[in-house]
Amino acid sequence: MYQCPKEGEIELQDGQLAPELAVKACPSCGGAWIPPENYVTWQQQQIDPEAPIQVAVLPLSLHTGFEPAALDNRAALCPDCRSYLVRGRITLKQGSFYVERCPNCTGIWCDGGEWEILQQLELQAHIDYIFSADWQAQVRELEHSEREKLATIDKLGPDIAQRVFELANLLEEHPNGDFGVAYLMRRVDQ
Ligand SMILES: [Zn+2]
Ligand SMILES: [Zn+2]
Repeated sequence: MYQCPKEGEIELQDGQLAPELAVKACPSCGGAWIPPENYVTWQQQQIDPEAPIQVAVLPLSLHTGFEPAALDNRAALCPDCRSYLVRGRITLKQGSFYVERCPNCTGIWCDGGEWEILQQLELQAHIDYIFSADWQAQVRELEHSEREKLATIDKLGPDIAQRVFELANLLEEHPNGDFGVAYLMRRVDQ
């Protein structure tokens, strides 16, 4: 018998997240435990093992109206082998949430609603990738540049900000782009 990692007293029940993906679902919080062998079998049907991992990595720009589950932040133990679950952060426009994975048996825990968001992000067949250093680095970089953009829009207004972004792209690609940057700095400094 598996128990809900977030609410120890609740027993998980047989459920399904997708056709051919049997899970243990929590009737109380709506979370789902995905046993590692079920996930791997399902994953192999979804992705071409020869194809490189193509992830639509722009969670920040996705507007979903999704609210992280109330239990999302609670530390949890693997319902199978009792190891502490490791969290993989996914940042959306309105805030971030965590998918959790057991470092020992590689089972996955999704709080209520998270699987559906992973589906929208085209990440549901790549959950292991969310826990890689590569993904975490990509996320940090994207978050940084997105915040910088939002701050620029906030200070300059959307019209001028848009022109600045376009100009930045042009200068970035031009072999003498630094002359353009120097000119702007001189003008704006005065
Ligand atoms: Zn629960
Ligand atoms: Zn485990």
